[in-house]
Amino acid sequence: MDDQVQVVAPSKVYAQACNDYQPDNVQRAMDALVANLGGLDALVPANSKVFIKVNLVRDMTPEKCGTTHPQVVIALVKHLQRITPNIVVGDSSGGLYTRGAMQAVYNKCKMTDISAQTQATLNQDFEFATAEINGQVCKTCEIINAYHNADVVINVTKLKTHSFAGYTGAVKNLYGLIPGLVKVEMHSRYPDLGDFCHLLCDIEQYASQKIVLHVIDAIIGMDGAGPTNGKPKFMGQLLASQNPYALDVVAVKLFGNPWDMPLLQVANKRGLVSKDLAEIDFDFDSWQANFVPDFDIQPVTSADTFLNMPKWVKKLAKKYLTKKVKIHKPTCRGCGKCATHCPAQAIQIVDGKAKIAQSKCIRCYCCQELCPFDAVKFGKSLLYRFVHAFSRTKSKKSGK
Ligand code: SF4
Ligand code: SF4
Repeated sequence: MDDQVQVVAPSKVYAQACNDYQPDNVQRAMDALVANLGGLDALVPANSKVFIKVNLVRDMTPEKCGTTHPQVVIALVKHLQRITPNIVVGDSSGGLYTRGAMQAVYNKCKMTDISAQTQATLNQDFEFATAEINGQVCKTCEIINAYHNADVVINVTKLKTHSFAGYTGAVKNLYGLIPGLVKVEMHSRYPDLGDFCHLLCDIEQYASQKIVLHVIDAIIGMDGAGPTNGKPKFMGQLLASQNPYALDVVAVKLFGNPWDMPLLQVANKRGLVSKDLAEIDFDFDSWQANFVPDFDIQPVTSADTFLNMPKWVKKLAKKYLTKKVKIHKPTCRGCGKCATHCPAQAIQIVDGKAKIAQSKCIRCYCCQELCPFDAVKFGKSLLYRFVHAFSRTKSKKSGK
């Protein structure tokens, strides 16, 4: 296969206000989005096999707002089932990618509402196959069969904070095309944030050959300690675009500065999205009225911080410029989930509690993402606080 060809989809972004997850309200918002898109018939061939890639990061209820709300998927499927009966909904969560593990996730995330109320089925194929990604940092990668088996894919994600990457939107959601624990291995192969963001862009560019639409559920998102332990945050929007980068820029503009986000910095460097907002077909002036002012966003390290540094400087910088994970012992129940998924094997369960070997930790924050009891907290060094406070002041002054 040839080297990866850069794909840039049309940059028009559509937004529709929606105040809650009442089925009629979500359906009305989705109907309006689909009408603005000119219908789905031009994007989805009749009787084609459609895979709806949702965000099921972990087994959590829709009320926690860390996963795609089933009502959004139901509203979308009601349009799709007029075109094709072959609709599969799924994701590879952070844990094991097996029938038993995923059924537990489907139940808790109420994905079962989708199969009960529409013709769509929940993915039951938990196999995967190697794909020729041919990207800038990744040449081959395991990708779940649900993607391989589909003719077209629709990416339906949640808008929320992410401790490692800054935010989760359309592009980050595609990391879930990698099966279960292989994601852990990928974190250890790409421990630098900059490289990891390149990996996300590589996956998006590969997957774009089948993806016809990206939708972001930003009706109630998550702020604070996302992607799983933050707080639900009302944002009131349902967003869609064929271009995931343009869509992410619009989404981040709801609460912050897109160019503070390492993933969008990397995408911009790769020519996948322009910092000139005029190149995105969207009314940014009116969008200001929807800004969520008190959104609790966790500062993240720049994508460039660790690139091109000598190894020893990189080690020191990582130690003092990134958040350190620590276990809140009274909350930890010793379930071992963090230890199983730690790519650096830095966690051991000692006397019924998780214990982190800081010297081994690569600060990928998988443990914080996967702990079901919110027992993994962040520690911030003085230098970290100083540097991030300074960068915030700078970006406010520059008006970005
Ligand atoms: S930190 Fe969380 S995931 Fe790890 S053992 Fe404790 S409760 Fe389980
Ligand atoms: S201890 Fe947590 S943050 Fe550190 S490498 Fe392991 S999973 Fe990643």
